[in-house]
Amino acid sequence: MHLRKYSLIALLILGGLVLIASQAFLYSDKTTHPYLIEQIIKFYNYHYNSDLTPRQIEWVKQGSINEDQWPRNWYYHFYDPVRNRGFGPLSAKEWAQNPEEQMKYPGGDHTWQRAINDYSAGYKKQAFISLGHVLHLIEDMAMPAHTREDPHLNGEPLEEWTGNLPEGSSFYNIAHPLINQDVKPKELDNLDAYFDEMANFSNNNFFSKNTIDNTIDEYGRVRPDAKYSEPKIVKEIWQDRTGYGYKKIDNYSKLFRVVKIEKDKRGKKTYFLDNTTPEIHAEYFSLLAREAVINGAGVVKLFFDSVTEPGYEIIEPEKKLSFFQKIGNKIGEWVSFLKSAFDGLVRSPDYAIKSIVKESVPELEHMATTPWIFDEELARGDEAVEKGGPIIELIIEEFLEIGSPKLELPEFDDIDDIEENDIEESEFQEEPEESYQEQS
Ligand SMILES: [Zn+2]
Repeated sequence: MHLRKYSLIALLILGGLVLIASQAFLYSDKTTHPYLIEQIIKFYNYHYNSDLTPRQIEWVKQGSINEDQWPRNWYYHFYDPVRNRGFGPLSAKEWAQNPEEQMKYPGGDHTWQRAINDYSAGYKKQAFISLGHVLHLIEDMAMPAHTREDPHLNGEPLEEWTGNLPEGSSFYNIAHPLINQDVKPKELDNLDAYFDEMANFSNNNFFSKNTIDNTIDEYGRVRPDAKYSEPKIVKEIWQDRTGYGYKKIDNYSKLFRVVKIEKDKRGKKTYFLDNTTPEIHAEYFSLLAREAVINGAGVVKLFFDSVTEPGYEIIEPEKKLSFFQKIGNKIGEWVSFLKSAFDGLVRSPDYAIKSIVKESVPELEHMATTPWIFDEELARGDEAVEKGGPIIELIIEEFLEIGSPKLELPEFDDIDDIEENDIEESEFQEEPEESYQEQS
């Protein structure tokens, strides 16, 4: 039956989405993003007057972590500056400034405008959290995979390498050298300009793992049908059968290694980046993170230039939720994520859908032979089971099943039923959106 087939494909795609959301950003959200925030603000505080306090810095970091946190939508974190488009229906640049769309997702509206309005109305905590969400997206623009339409469902070696850097690693010592070299934050007129600046830098100067072959041919020349005309390799340096391709990076006069090359016995060359090329990841990250800090500090400056200093600060009391309310919220978040993810997919351009299907099918095959691995969700579930006993276990099972490809695939009608019932349960949210809305 037609409908059945459609449901199956849709669920495969959703399964893929679920998977990426839980895996692809597993490392970077907890480490890279907040560590870069620290450097951005250090650099900002050095150059401008309105210093952020340690508490405010924590809020910005928290926002940067939340932006990637499941079940918020990952595929709005892409922006290809060459084609001026995102991977899904909205680019990161548009997502960062689209309150209507953000309201549909768990976590709600954390746009640039919201940050400015909240601050001006005295809700500084919420404002700094939202600023962290926006800076997260600016930092994502420092990742070539995010600006070269490479959704990297199978992992991106640069992100993995970066995600494994410990806190305090010398690679995160960025602000200090910039200050010593007398580099100033980049000052641009609006947020769009920062997205363009960052995205062009990472798109034009670097490869992502999956965009080497569609840019250069086996001789290292830009292909006539290349998806991107950059980076161009201007020099190769060889030692036996291993070599590096070099490129002149924008803003620098010297050449940098951008790709590794191997020659087989017949002289056929392969250009690649993978987990065996940490020397290149190190070079990439140093250049890209530096740019993220220079531009990120400019974004913080733009933020303060855009707000009006409120005469008071409103501190909302933390709401204590009961255990059952938390479980209810979780179910609500899952359901609304799946709903919005599906909605987003339906509106996604063809190339995005094809690419997700292409990459998610092998992943799902792999999943079928390994236990279901929503590590974090399962850990939370285990904790709940311990506390709440067998009834809770049932609830948890139910909510894990919504996204699990191991289960019988329901028709979409069934999913509609689940959604309608459960969305009511999600009414007790930590931040009631409506009353919140009135203040801004
Ligand atoms: Zn992201």
